Amino acid sequence: MGKSGIGNARRARLDNLREAALHKDVVARRVPAGFNGRWTRRQWAHASLVATLAALVAAIVPGFPANSQAAAAPVPTRTTLALTLPPLPLAKLRGQTGDSWQIVRVERGQTLGSLFEDLDLPAATMHAMLDQPGAKQALTRMKPGTELAFDLPVGGGLRAFRYDRDDTHRVELTFDGDKITQQVIERPTQSRTVVISGNVGKSLYHSARKLGLSPGAINTLTDDIFKYDIDFNDDVAASDRFSVVVEQTWRDGELIRTGPVQAATFTVGGTLHSGFRFERSGKAEYFTADGRPLKKTFIRMPIPYARLTSSFGSRRHPVLGTVRQHQGVDYAASTGTPIMAAGDARVQFVGWKGGYGRAVILDHGRGYTTLYGHMSRFGDIKQGQKIPQGRVIGYVGMTGLATGPHLHYEFRINGVHRNPLSITMPPPEPLNGAALAQFRSQTSNALARIQRVEKVIYADAEPAPAPKPAKQKKA
Ligand SMILES: [Zn+2]
Repeated sequence: MGKSGIGNARRARLDNLREAALHKDVVARRVPAGFNGRWTRRQWAHASLVATLAALVAAIVPGFPANSQAAAAPVPTRTTLALTLPPLPLAKLRGQTGDSWQIVRVERGQTLGSLFEDLDLPAATMHAMLDQPGAKQALTRMKPGTELAFDLPVGGGLRAFRYDRDDTHRVELTFDGDKITQQVIERPTQSRTVVISGNVGKSLYHSARKLGLSPGAINTLTDDIFKYDIDFNDDVAASDRFSVVVEQTWRDGELIRTGPVQAATFTVGGTLHSGFRFERSGKAEYFTADGRPLKKTFIRMPIPYARLTSSFGSRRHPVLGTVRQHQGVDYAASTGTPIMAAGDARVQFVGWKGGYGRAVILDHGRGYTTLYGHMSRFGDIKQGQKIPQGRVIGYVGMTGLATGPHLHYEFRINGVHRNPLSITMPPPEPLNGAALAQFRSQTSNALARIQRVEKVIYADAEPAPAPKPAKQKKA
């Protein structure tokens, strides 16, 4: 096969690749280097929607560094967001003459080798490319969605190749016979702390996603911060509002990363709830405005969706037939239902324990222990291991003395059995001393920013109430 023959074959493969991409409704972004800095009227029209949204949701919050890295970066007091060039559909790229750059978006299962094969490019070129500093690391384990750019002039070989070595470096390799020239283009990133605020609307998830909150951040709101104070199934109305402080990393006007939720407020029926992230002895937790952990020491029920079938106290034992104290509570649930650690703990026992069958005992410190019996199997835990609240320690079953699948749950304080449904759980340890002082300066700042943003966004609405002192609910 002659040189032009290879070129034709490649062109056909390339067309197939493009065709496949078109049918999947995939859009390619033009390589920014080709962008001359001017936008057409149509592009501005596309972008204006994004711009309005950005202006609404993004307010710069200086002086609330999320970490030392952010603290080191200069935070502008006023910033204009550079907007990314709207992606052009591949169809638009096709008709353009003289544009020999082809952008390939890596799909699941594709490797650099398979791409080179698809494009009929010699493996020797690929190996020479991989010998360039930093190339192997970036190109041998590519995530689906990674964009690569090939400069393939009609009838010629690979002229140049572009890839992103990491978040901040774009590499361009130019091929001239056997000679490869590498140029590294710096792509600086900016960290910005922003307040994102919105109304719940029809669905909190939908509204929050629309404003750019990640599913993970929404989870943090519903499961880590407000789970104990707000019932998201029943309490929340469409007009209720939420505000979230997050750190965003931008590059070339494109949001590339969003950090964890630093602070959040939720106004439900006129009552303001708030939560703030703070690292206590190296571990991130969420606290109320006055420095009390939002997380309760113990969760009330160690399994989801269960029915209490036997309460604490005297009863006739269903298997032995004798009347005796029931030292715990029973929850009926189907075999295989996950059982969670009621609180942060050290695993004291995992194994078979007489009538309890497969059982786990957790030591929560300060004299508190919990026992979980009749498990069908254990979670991935080891004796002596430290585990967080909520970790799955095993699954419901009916091992030992049990007539049906259920969890037998015991709660002991200094060795004495107590009823987990009626005792007052110990409050978690609040922040104090230097940590509390540091926490206060951080939170007052964050809260002020949230209120400033809400004042702008909800100018016509009722002002948000001041945070009420956190009441210490019985856990
Ligand atoms: Zn029981």
